[in-house]
Amino acid sequence: MDNIANINKIYSAGTPRFALSKKIYLIMTKITVAKGDGIGPEIMDATLDIILAAGAKIEIDEIEVGEKVYLAGNTSGISPESWETIRRNKIFLKAPITTPQGGGYKSLNVTTRKFLGLYSNVRPCRSLHPFVNTKHPVMDIVIIRENEEDLYAGIEHQQTDEVVQCLKLISRPGCEKIVRYAFEYAKQQSRKKVTCFTKDNIMKQTDGLFHQVFDEIAKEYPEIENEHWIIDIGAAKLADTPEAFDVIVMPNLYGDVLSDVAAQITGSVGLAGSANIGEECAMFEAIHGSAPRRAGQNAANPSGLLQGAIMMLNHIGQTEVAEKVQNAWLKTLEDGFHTYDIFNAKTSKLCVGTKEFAKAVIANLGNKPSTLKPVSYASNAALNLPKYKRKPAAHKTLEGVDVFVHWNGTDPAELAAKIKSIETNGSKLTMITNRGIKVWPDGFKETFCTDHWRCRFKPEGQTAFDKKDIIILLANAVNENIDTIKTENLYAINGKAVYSLGQGQ
Ligand code: NAD
Repeated sequence: MDNIANINKIYSAGTPRFALSKKIYLIMTKITVAKGDGIGPEIMDATLDIILAAGAKIEIDEIEVGEKVYLAGNTSGISPESWETIRRNKIFLKAPITTPQGGGYKSLNVTTRKFLGLYSNVRPCRSLHPFVNTKHPVMDIVIIRENEEDLYAGIEHQQTDEVVQCLKLISRPGCEKIVRYAFEYAKQQSRKKVTCFTKDNIMKQTDGLFHQVFDEIAKEYPEIENEHWIIDIGAAKLADTPEAFDVIVMPNLYGDVLSDVAAQITGSVGLAGSANIGEECAMFEAIHGSAPRRAGQNAANPSGLLQGAIMMLNHIGQTEVAEKVQNAWLKTLEDGFHTYDIFNAKTSKLCVGTKEFAKAVIANLGNKPSTLKPVSYASNAALNLPKYKRKPAAHKTLEGVDVFVHWNGTDPAELAAKIKSIETNGSKLTMITNRGIKVWPDGFKETFCTDHWRCRFKPEGQTAFDKKDIIILLANAVNENIDTIKTENLYAINGKAVYSLGQGQ
């Protein structure tokens, strides 16, 4: 075995430095590369040309993922051999891929993030005023998006003729990991404030947990300002006055939507990169998609993927190369060499294609911007966060059950009379809701009702609820020809009820 191979064996992919006589020598890091679909191959070639010209010490294992793999009959868009390569190398640079519409294909992006435990999605969005036209000249924010859960759990069911459901799952480990990441990132990058966006005025349990964990962890970082915004007004403020924000942490779906908005208002969605970070592996990409209409035209802006690659270089410890590429990129934008998406007669000199843009960045390697602030990445290595430790089990008591029913009638009083026939000694019907709004007892005749009803059963008085009653309720429903579609247990954790009331209750 040669020396490099030996060193590679000793050091994991995440720590590819070898120190000798005080000087740091970079050793080769093996990375997995997927060129993707649409504009993917063009922007990946441009990105690799630039970082290799800058001296990136990477060895490339290329894999095929995406449209061709999906259409060849693999519904996951990736082969088992490609998974092996990704897991072995641990570092993945991925161009955008097309998820074919219809046919039930799952997004490979979401699958990769979840399979590999890439819980943190980091998306910096910074204005390049006066060189790239923007209404927000001093914007410099980083969106930290939770990357594994929320509505992206992808658990959906049609339950009745009229109603489909998507489960929104938010976990304490998920919240703690992402919020801690946001504060540690802010600390490393000397950023002043972390803002949290949620909709916990409506989703008191799920978004409520995210907000609660944010408040808990914020206390451990007194030197960093913290604040919480309800997502709707927060998003409006972000689109109008982005300079009011610094680092923003949020659940998955909000982060997906708002990071596109944030990138677009810096000048183009084609400018922003994204790092997907896990405890073992990491994936780097552009935030945008495969833009199929622009494919094969040498027109796409490679900057988003290049920004992803720069984050990758920092992550694997090649911070000097990362810094050199970023300064050359800033200088190229200053020089006015712009792809079509950011071309503006007032601020641009030349509208260039993907390849020409890459050549201009390569020609600028070693140069620094003169108006924009040059970057310094000396302290930009991967964050080393503690592993999540499970908390001691809480005291959980069962207080009742919600039984969901498919019923085609319209009068809630009629349904209540039917449902009362399945009551047991220990569980009585206390409420019926339709799409969350209470319709019995004391509903409004104006409330529109679908065929999807939630019937809440609780014991009378102080009696404890017996789990066996759920089985008896369901058996009674079968006997009474009532179409039950699911149940949800109603728990109290450490004495506090942790389920939603009916709206209007
Ligand atoms: P998109 O981001 O691909 O493109 C939207 C528009 O933005 C394009 O038409 C183009 O005008 C512009 N644009 C995007 N990237 C650009 C670039 N680098 N340079 C210049 N202009 C650029 O969004 P879409 O059209 O909604 O999605 C297309 C496909 O991409 C879909 O199949 C979708 O599933 C997939 N997608 C993949 C990823 C990913 O791989 N991470 C992310 C989002 C969407």
